[in-house]
Amino acid sequence: MKVLTLNCGSSTVKYKLIDTESRSNIATGKVERIGMIGASIELKSPDGNKVVREVEILDHVMAINAILKIMVEPKVGVLKDLEEIDAVGHRVVHGGETFSGSVLITDKVVQTLKDNIQLAPLHNPPNIQGIEAAMALLDVPMVGVFDTAFHSTIPEYSYIYPIPYQLYKKYAIRRYGFHGTSHRFVSQRACEINGRNFKNCTMISIHLGNGASMAAIRNGKSVDTSMGFTPLEGLVMGTRCGDIDPAIILHIMRQEKLSLHEADNLLNKFSGILGISGRSSDMRDIEELYFAGDKQAHLVINIYAYRIKKYIGSYFAVLNGVECIVFTAGIGENSPLIREKCLEGLDHLGIVLDKKKNDEVVGQEAIISTPDSPTKIMVVPTNEELVIALDTAEIVSRMKK
Ligand code: AMP
Repeated sequence: MKVLTLNCGSSTVKYKLIDTESRSNIATGKVERIGMIGASIELKSPDGNKVVREVEILDHVMAINAILKIMVEPKVGVLKDLEEIDAVGHRVVHGGETFSGSVLITDKVVQTLKDNIQLAPLHNPPNIQGIEAAMALLDVPMVGVFDTAFHSTIPEYSYIYPIPYQLYKKYAIRRYGFHGTSHRFVSQRACEINGRNFKNCTMISIHLGNGASMAAIRNGKSVDTSMGFTPLEGLVMGTRCGDIDPAIILHIMRQEKLSLHEADNLLNKFSGILGISGRSSDMRDIEELYFAGDKQAHLVINIYAYRIKKYIGSYFAVLNGVECIVFTAGIGENSPLIREKCLEGLDHLGIVLDKKKNDEVVGQEAIISTPDSPTKIMVVPTNEELVIALDTAEIVSRMKK
């Protein structure tokens, strides 16, 4: 089946056309700067050819239309006819309490997503715009794959916050967790590589990208995760603070006379790696400074790694032992330094890194623990789009039976 996956942000649409039988990409690309001057579309084909063009793109309908047009364009395209696209899979950030797995998109599903907008006011509106735009342009089945769904198995004692319970009832304030598609993919893939049955495995999945989160997985199910009601909780991220004393924000708001919007921006856009370093949210820049002996960069990396280490310890307690720890996403896949730092001094838990092997692994699947380490440590590049495409193909083939 040929599945077009769409990941719609407020000013971007990332897409992949995937052949689900061979699990290979037919095309990948993105539209950027939607509604702005200098909007562009990019198409990359598997042979490495890349086309980037500036075009006027005012909204998501125009963006998806541009993607469809370029894919069938005689010289640069990858398809003869749009009829070759069998289905569309949409990444949706927040499924609320309604969606515990991927679903066929119907008008009712779209309405439910709209009803849930207040849970993800930044992310869900562009996701919905993308769904509606694709529905207007293509007459094929569409499936929604939710970032929150994999974490729907977290037990109540972990997802309820110790604030007045009424607030859970009234506003559905609870831990949801995100990056679920990535945690699911890399943990399943790690089991496949190890010849283990995912349904019998205890593992910790560590997704370290610009956003970062961890998941404790028991018998193929997420039982805890570091992100919470929003993606702000948990690990230190590119620009998000992760766990802090909630009273800090009240104090800063009072002292600096910040509005809600300003406080929101402070925590989500100016904290984390950017906030501590004062220079960059990009780990590559911080590592460069670190190796040049910059003191503040050392502080950033120590804080960043220490937070991960504390979560590893707590998930060992949650899971009562861990067979495998998997690193993924930009930093997890590519940074031996961060992997080493956050695993330092955990030998007593049975986590023994092979430092030489770790140093060699950048962006590929690998086992980086010593052969006798009781806990396997692995690197598995994430592939959320493949999960979206495979879920879509499965739901659509079930529908056709
Ligand atoms: P993602 O959100 O998964 O694309 O990850 C983005 C993050 O990965 C950024 O902080 C990048 O600096 C980081 N990253 C990508 N490549 C490397 C690398 N080779 N070493 C360290 N960090 C990297």
